[in-house]
Amino acid sequence: MSKVLIIGAGGVGRVVASKCADNPEVFTEIMLASRTLSKCEAIAREVGKGRIQTAQVNADNVAEVVALINRFKPGLVINVALPYQDLPIMDACLETGVNYLDTANYEPKEEAKFEYSWQWAYHDRFKEKGIMAVLGCGFDPGVTSIYTAYAAKHHFDEMHALDIVDCNAGDHGKAFATNFNPEINIREITQKGKYWENGKWVETEPHEIKKVLNYPEIGPRDSYLIFHEELESLVKNFPTLKRARFWMTFGQEYLTHLRVIQNIGMARIDPVKYKGVDVIPLEFLKYVLPDPGELGENYVGETSIGCRIKGIKDGQEKTYYVWNNCSHEKAYEETGTQAVSYTTGVPAMLGAMMVLTGKWNGKGVFNVEQFDPDPFMEKIGEYGLPWNEAVNVDLEL
Ligand code: NDP
Repeated sequence: MSKVLIIGAGGVGRVVASKCADNPEVFTEIMLASRTLSKCEAIAREVGKGRIQTAQVNADNVAEVVALINRFKPGLVINVALPYQDLPIMDACLETGVNYLDTANYEPKEEAKFEYSWQWAYHDRFKEKGIMAVLGCGFDPGVTSIYTAYAAKHHFDEMHALDIVDCNAGDHGKAFATNFNPEINIREITQKGKYWENGKWVETEPHEIKKVLNYPEIGPRDSYLIFHEELESLVKNFPTLKRARFWMTFGQEYLTHLRVIQNIGMARIDPVKYKGVDVIPLEFLKYVLPDPGELGENYVGETSIGCRIKGIKDGQEKTYYVWNNCSHEKAYEETGTQAVSYTTGVPAMLGAMMVLTGKWNGKGVFNVEQFDPDPFMEKIGEYGLPWNEAVNVDLEL
C-alpha cells in the first residue's frame, strides 16, 4: 500500500527496518538510507527478510534528501538519524510534499538546547503543502506522550500532576556506555534539570533532585529529575497539568563516569585545536565509547518506563500508573539490539503505520499526544511493547 523511507542506520534504524519488514501489508516497499551505506546493507541482510533496499545519503544536505525522495517516492519519511538532521529532512519533505515522522526534537549542533520551537515553526508550511509531520514518536517522547493522552481520554476529567518515570535496570557488563548515541545522550543528561510547576518552569542543577522510586518487577532505584523534551509539548497540550516532571534512573558508577567526563572537558561541544585540526571533545569521545547498537549481546535485565498521573475523575481524586517493561534479552533475540533501541524503534514503526493507514491524520506539525491514542494503544502490545495499568495506587510522588 505504501512506500517508506527510513533515514538512519543506528540501533533505532535497525529496529524500525526490522519491524517494517515484518509488516508487508502496510509497508509494501522499504528503503533504508544513511550516511554509511555498509551499515544499511548489514541491517538489510540481517533483519530485512529480503525486503529492504538501501541507499547512501547525507541528510544534512537537503538537495541529497530531495533527490532520494524523488527517486524512491515514499509516502512517509521516518527520520531516525540524529536530531541535527530534523530540519534538513523536514525541508526535503516540504519540497517534495511527503509526510515526516521522527523520535527526537531538533538540536543545533553548536548548542545543547532541547525545544520544539524550530520544528513547530514549520506548522503553517506543512499545512499549506497538505502534509503532516509527526514529532517525537519513540518511547519517551512517544509512548509516554500517548500514555498521557490515553489517561486524559479514559481516566481523568482533569489531570493535575504527571511524573514520567524511566528506569533502565539492565546490565551490559561495560564500565561505562550510553544506550543511544553517546553524543546526544551526554548532551541531554548533563543539562540543568527543569520541571513545570504552577504555570512556569523551575530550573535545578543537574541531578540535584533525587528520589528512590519502585519500579514494577525491578524494585527500588535511584531516580533523578531531569528535563525531557516531551514535557514541553505535554504541558501545552494538557493545560490542566499543574506539575509535570521527568525522572530517570542512574547508577552511582554511571554518574561518577559522567562527572569525570565533564570535569576533564570531554563533554565540551566547542571545538578545540588538536595538532592543527578542530576537534569537538564530545564528538571524539563518541568514537572511543562502546557503540550503543552493539551493546545488546550480553545485555541482561529490563527497562521500565511509564507515566504516574494524579487528577480528578467524577469529582474524586484519582491516581493512574501506566507502564511497559521491556527485556534487553528478548529485544536482542528479535532484532539484534538492546531494549532502548527496541522501545524507540517499535513506536516509530507503529506511528508510521498510523499515518500510512490514515488512523492519524491532519495537516501541519503535530506532537503524538495530539492524535487519538486508542488505535495506537490497541496495537502496541502486539508489536512487542505490551502495557500495564494500575488505578488508585500509591504513586510515591
Ligand atoms: P545512532 O547514533 O546509533 O544512529 C544514528 C544513525 O544516523 C547512524 O546510522 C548515522 O550514520 C546516521 N546519521 C548521522 N548523521 C547523518 C547524516 N548527516 N546523514 C545521514 N545519516 C546520518 O543513534 P540511535 O539509533 O541510538 O538513535 C537514533 C535517533 O533516535 C536519535 O535521534 C536519538 O536521539 C533518537 N532516540 C529517541 C528515543 C526516544 O525514546 N524518543 C530514545 C533513543 C533514541 P553513521 O552510521 O554514519 O554514523
